[in-house]
This record gives sequence, C-alpha cells and structure tokens, in this order.
Amino acid sequence: MKIVITKERRAHERRVAATPDTVKKFIALGFDVAVEQDAGINSRISNQAYQDAGATISADIVSLLGSADILLKVQRPLLAGEGEINELALMKRGALLIAMLSPYAEPSAIQQYADAGITALTLEFVPRITRAQSMDVLSSQSNLAGYRAVLEAINVYDRAMPMMMTAAGTIAPARVMVLGAGVAGLQAIATAKRLGAIVSATDVRAASKEQVESLGGKFVMVESDEVKNAETAGGYAKEMSDDYKRRQAELVAETLKKQDIAICTALIPGRKAPTLINDEMVHSMRPGSVIVDLAAEQGGNCTLTKPGEVVEINGVTIIGLFNIPSRLSADASALYAKNILNFVTPMIDADKQFTVNWQDEIIAATVLTRDGNIVHPNFKPTSA
Ligand code: NAD
Repeated sequence: MKIVITKERRAHERRVAATPDTVKKFIALGFDVAVEQDAGINSRISNQAYQDAGATISADIVSLLGSADILLKVQRPLLAGEGEINELALMKRGALLIAMLSPYAEPSAIQQYADAGITALTLEFVPRITRAQSMDVLSSQSNLAGYRAVLEAINVYDRAMPMMMTAAGTIAPARVMVLGAGVAGLQAIATAKRLGAIVSATDVRAASKEQVESLGGKFVMVESDEVKNAETAGGYAKEMSDDYKRRQAELVAETLKKQDIAICTALIPGRKAPTLINDEMVHSMRPGSVIVDLAAEQGGNCTLTKPGEVVEINGVTIIGLFNIPSRLSADASALYAKNILNFVTPMIDADKQFTVNWQDEIIAATVLTRDGNIVHPNFKPTSA
C-alpha cells in the first residue's frame, strides 16, 4: 500500500501533508511512502530528512500520482485548467485522496472525483467528537491562524500593544475586539492579552462567554432568546434572524469605534461569512486602526475587505490575506501531518491489514465520493 505526498501547487500554499515524523510512523504501520522532491521545502523540511525517515524521493510527478494508493495533500488537487498539470487526471482509479477539499467552495470538483473513480475524503468534515480531536484539522489550523492574525495586525499598527509608563509619558494599551470566539478567536484573544491589550469579544453562541472570560476578555453579546438556539448539534453557529443582525450591528458599531484592532473570525459552515463590520463602522475607527479579516476567503466579515489583499481606507488598514496558517508553514504542517496520521492510523487493523470501516462515524462524515459516485448526503445529486 503506497502513500504519496506531493508538493502543494496552489497559490499561497506553503504547507505539506507529511513530516519526517509522520512518514516514519506510516512506514511502521506497514505503508510504503513516496514524497515528491522539494515537497517540504516551504515548511523547512529537506528531501534528506524525508529520506532518512524511510521515504523514497521522486521528481517524477506523473509516476508518483499514478502509483499512489493513498494521496495525502493539504489542498485539493489541481484540475484541468487550474495550473501546470491536472493532478486529478494523473491519479489511478480506486485511489484514496485525503485532504482539505473545500467541498462547499468547490462543489463542482466533487463530481470530477467521482468520475475519476477516486475515493475522496475531506478533513474539514471530521466531526467535533472527542475521539476525533487529534484528527481535527480545522482546530489545528485555526488555532495558528488566530495567533498569527494578531501578529499581522501588530505588524502594521503604528502604536504599542501594552500600556507603558515611561519618563516621557504613558502609552495607553491597545484595545482589541475579536468577532467570533471559536478556535481562532479564542487564540487571538489569548495572544492579544499576552501582549498587553485590553480585549473584548463577541459571538452568537452563549457557550463562548465563559471561554472568553476565562482568557481575560470582556464578552459583549446581544441579549436575546435566539442565542439559546444559535448553535447546531455539532457546535457550529447558525445564521441569525434579521432582527438579531440589526441589534448585533448596533452593538458592534458602539464597541468598535473605541477599538484599535479588530480580528474577524466569524464563520457559518457552508455559507458566506456573516457581515459584522459595515463601511460606516470602518469609517468610525480612528486612523491607524487595523482590521484583520480571517473570514476573507468566505467573503469576509467586513464589507470593505478585499479578499486576498491588504487595503487602507481612511487610515484604517484592512488585512484580507488568504491562508494565514500557511504563513506559519513549519508548525502548521507539523500539526496537519499529525492530524492526517491520526486519521489514517485506524484504517490499519490488528492484523496490520488496510481496512477502511465505511460505517465509522468519522469516515462516514468525511467521504465525498466512492466507487464512482457522490456519496456524501450534502452533495448527492437529488434524483428527479
Ligand atoms: P467556526 O470557525 O465555524 O466559526 C468561528 C466562530 O464564529 C464561532 O465561534 C461561531 O459561533 C462564530 N460566529 C458565527 N457567526 C457569528 C456571528 N454572526 N456573530 C458572531 N460570531 C459568529 O468555529 P470553530 O472555531 O470551528 O468552532 C465551532 C465549534 O466547534 C465551537 O463550538 C467549538 O467550541 C467547537 N469545537 C469543538 C471541538 C471538539 O470538541 N473536538 C474542537 C474544536 C472546536
């Protein structure tokens, strides 16, 4: 059984799906592992390090993809017209593809996996259950994104974060507001607090209040009965009513004009990110303020975010950079690779045989295509 790890060819992607550590463990499980030459270079992993771990290194992408029983990737493979090669077309029928396949962003690719006879498993769909915590790529990557978002803000912020009392005068601490207190938001709060900022945060899920406060943040939230039902069974946020949105906008407007930095992380799975900061609110912030919009790839939480760009509007810098975890590629790859190892390990049974339990809750939640068909209930074509 051969596992293949290739170079990530999509723009802004510096991560890699395996490390020498995980390669060693795959080999101990009985797999052969082949790594494309320079696959780890952007994560500071040399070809030699993979080779020392027991992998074979190859520059021949055509034979690598053609020989993979399991292809491990960070992002979805390139399709026709998307880049230098059509990675999907080079894979053999029946192969397993394990990656963050962005199924909601790219639903049309799912039919192509099915047509190519690929069994596609998407890691964003790993359920948030205790047994799957070590496989949770959203958590491992969002945590790093939340941390890095604060550093991106500081990098363009012309003032200091902590209060400083000096002989030449006192510098006031920065005020940071975090919108969306999930995994990324909580890490942003912790990071901003460590740097000495005064931090407030908001979310629609009432459960996040305690978490924000335990990190020393002030929780601001619309008081409404609606928050009792704002969370899905999986712990994710739901889209709120128009009345709630109006009241939330008033609250955010009131809070934001006193802030120096806003970190936006609010997401609703499968939907465009909720709008939380409008043009008027941006204009109410003082020059020198910074907004980091981690939701930029899902349309952004701020109406003036330019996805993929950094813009300045009336002295307010809005950072809408894509793929923030990739900016910490060495750590992001190490955690992602560990998540994948933990996902694949249960596929080896007690007799060291590769057997996928398709009924398993974690596998069933992640399989998009199998035996030439789309099998995931969210994407199955509806019969006429
Ligand atoms: P996410 O990335 O989907 O969204 C980020 C945050 O934005 C969430 O906290 C969400 O409630 C919030 N949000 C959405 N719409 C909003 C709005 N209109 N206004 C303000 N905030 C809004 O979330 P996530 O970080 O992936 O976390 C989702 C859930 O999963 C949380 O309940 C978290 O505690 C839980 N979780 C569980 C596990 C586990 O048990 N293994 C691991 C990680 C996360």
